[in-house]
Amino acid sequence: MRVASCGLPIFETYLNELIEWNKKFNLTAITDPEEIRRKHFDDSLLLLQAMKLMDESVVDVGAGAGFPGIPLKIVCPEIKLTLVEATKKKVEFLEHIIKLLDLKNTAAVWARAEDFAQQHRESFDLAVSRAVAEMSVLCEYSLPLVRVGGAFIAYKEVTVEPEIAAARQALEILGGALREVRKYPARSLVIIDKVNVTPVKYPRRAGMAKKRPL
Ligand code: SAM
Repeated sequence: MRVASCGLPIFETYLNELIEWNKKFNLTAITDPEEIRRKHFDDSLLLLQAMKLMDESVVDVGAGAGFPGIPLKIVCPEIKLTLVEATKKKVEFLEHIIKLLDLKNTAAVWARAEDFAQQHRESFDLAVSRAVAEMSVLCEYSLPLVRVGGAFIAYKEVTVEPEIAAARQALEILGGALREVRKYPARSLVIIDKVNVTPVKYPRRAGMAKKRPL
């Protein structure tokens, strides 16, 4: 489905920069403009069909070239956005885009999510993440960042049920509870409520979540 906002010139500027930078650095495997609009921009904005964003603090875990965080920020300029990304070149691209698009209250942080979470526990209203890790691993990266009463939304493949089942224990340990799975033609959005404080021992040190999923 085409999201009308993607026709805004600001999205075209983002698209052109992404294509230019991608000639030098590997930012995205998708290089066709129409595919970028559909698979990056429209896909990122699907969240807005599941919930309204006002002025929430939002953290995008493993933001890559800015998805889904930057399209959400463009359409919902009042959110306070933090993009956490482990690859330096991608963070440089994000910093460039933030400046070029003049995005206020937006920061790109070069860090592993596990390390970032140690300094920013329970501080965001909403965490979002797309194409970063399996559900149980992703929950350990993201849920410690969310305050009780907030939420975590994972952008997942349409068939996500086996991953959710495998993450049941992780959810419980980390203070999350599955609210619902929203299904779209090419995407599932897994919405998790933060219902309890995450024990301080999580996330474990960088790399452990992936090595030994909960
Ligand atoms: N979210 C973007 C998207 O959907 O286009 C990027 C997806 S890319 C496949 C996964 C990104 O997650 C990579 O840029 C990688 O560097 C980042 N990443 C993986 N593990 C991470 C971690 N523990 N902390 C921060 N970033 C991480």
